Amino acid sequence: MFKASLRSHLTLWFAGLSLLTLLSVGFYVGHIATGQMKQASGNALLSTAKSAAELLGAQLRERQLEVSLLSRAPLLKRGNLDDPDILTSMELRTQSRAEYAWMGVADADGRVRQAVNGLLVNQSVKERPWFQAGLRGDYTGDPHEAVLLAKLLPGSASGEPLRFIDFAAPIRNAQGQVVGVLGAHAHWSWVTKIVDAAVLQKGTAPEVEALIVDHDGKVLYPEQLAGEQLPNLPGTLKTPDTAPGWSVGNGYLTSAVAVPTPSSAGLTWYIAVRQPLDIALHPARVLFYKLLALGFIAAIIFGLVAYYLALHLSRPIEQLARAAKQVQDHQPDVAFPLQHSVREIAQLVQSIQGMTQSLLGKERELQEANTSLEATVAQRTVALTQANANLLKLATHDALTGVFNRRRFDEKLAECSLLFQRTGRTFALLFIDVDYFKRINDTHGHAIGDEVLEQLAKLIQRNTRATDFVARYGGEEFAVLLPEIEEPESPEVVAEKIRVAIAEAHFASVGQVTVSIGVGLAELSDSNASALIRRADQQLYQAKGAGRNRVCCTA
Ligand code: GH3
Ligand code: MG
Ligand code: MG
Repeated sequence: MFKASLRSHLTLWFAGLSLLTLLSVGFYVGHIATGQMKQASGNALLSTAKSAAELLGAQLRERQLEVSLLSRAPLLKRGNLDDPDILTSMELRTQSRAEYAWMGVADADGRVRQAVNGLLVNQSVKERPWFQAGLRGDYTGDPHEAVLLAKLLPGSASGEPLRFIDFAAPIRNAQGQVVGVLGAHAHWSWVTKIVDAAVLQKGTAPEVEALIVDHDGKVLYPEQLAGEQLPNLPGTLKTPDTAPGWSVGNGYLTSAVAVPTPSSAGLTWYIAVRQPLDIALHPARVLFYKLLALGFIAAIIFGLVAYYLALHLSRPIEQLARAAKQVQDHQPDVAFPLQHSVREIAQLVQSIQGMTQSLLGKERELQEANTSLEATVAQRTVALTQANANLLKLATHDALTGVFNRRRFDEKLAECSLLFQRTGRTFALLFIDVDYFKRINDTHGHAIGDEVLEQLAKLIQRNTRATDFVARYGGEEFAVLLPEIEEPESPEVVAEKIRVAIAEAHFASVGQVTVSIGVGLAELSDSNASALIRRADQQLYQAKGAGRNRVCCTA
């Protein structure tokens, strides 16, 4: 399994957590800012809509009042609708106010009696809504396309159809009877200019547009949206995102305010001021992206700081890990990073160093103990080998004289017999017995007897060859096997040489000692070794019998 370093762990955690925190803050602040931006823009739109609605309301009321006051003028009250002063009075008004496209008086039957510029004179307006409403009272109407005047008036510069809004008021005579209707058509463009001017004057915010909407939510202005339904007017359609005075929908932030129209008039208009949501919330989005960018930059900075911090924290631990590895690999002079500003790390390093030293000390002691144990074992092994060698020597040699013992002699004799049976090369056996040894013991003591036996063994060995075999046969008897019999050193000559050497030797405390020697030669007819022993023994017996200190041989 891949194991990341402490450094990368710390760096990733620090950077990740800081990025997460800053992104959360960014999103939260962005959300709050968007809400507040919406609120602020909505309120700004509401205030614009309010002032536009108030301005338009005031203008409409003023025109309505103007028509109403004129209809009640004494001139009209007299009841003569053909009075030329009425025309003059109307002309004065239309000349001073460009918004009036037409002003005229119609009698109770709906026939136009007089009109500015003579337009529609004598024509019937009986079916026109303004005339019918005007008979009943003051009237201000919705905009409509010019029906009768369309052919009589010059068209608009843009080629759009002429649209008017109508004002009307009843003309009553002195008796209070309705004798006719005073009507005025104002250019719709006058209305829209008022609204646009009001919005533009306030309109510091970009892409803000003003709409005039009727009571059903249908757009009256601007022309290109005319007839469309505005979904979220206050009181028409509520969206969940509707706040007092403004709402969000169709990608717009919209504020709509009812126009305070003349009280007598039946019309209800709304001024809707709207701004694309994208534009309205643009600053909030910019703020949000800035916060995001700030978050990323901060995460990078935090990551770097974390990296260096991790470096600072992890370096001693890495060094410690290296040192531990060196200790594990039995490298000499391992350096531990003892200095560190973080107390716990410094303590950890000190403790581990202490532990390591104590462990190494124990290991050294163990090694020393092991070494001394090995030395002891080696010593003991040497001693044991020595003891074994001694044991082996004891098993084959005589303890007093150092020559071979009887056991070994028997083995050697058997070997020589076998060899002789195979090769036919003869060998000889010498039996050497000390003369009157009992007397030596009796005279000088057993210890001196032992010394004599030791010296005798040495003398016998000195006068035989290395290939000859000297053994203590028992008591004060020695046996010598001569495997190589070569002239002139025949067995008899060797025996004689031994006898003379002993007889001439001086023995401390005792003086002279003599021996008798019996010599036997191996014969092919011998079934076993005892025949040879017997022959040698007989010769020894003969030597004793013949006066001792002599050699007797079979041949
Ligand atoms: P001869 O052979 O000449 O007939 O006389 P001898 O005195 O040697 O005869 P014998 O065989 O009777 O005596 C041998 C003596 O050797 C008897 C014994 O006490 C002595 N003897 C045997 N073994 C030892 C020994 O290991 N040390 C000592 N000091 N004496 C021993
Ligand atoms: Mg004897
Ligand atoms: Mg003897």
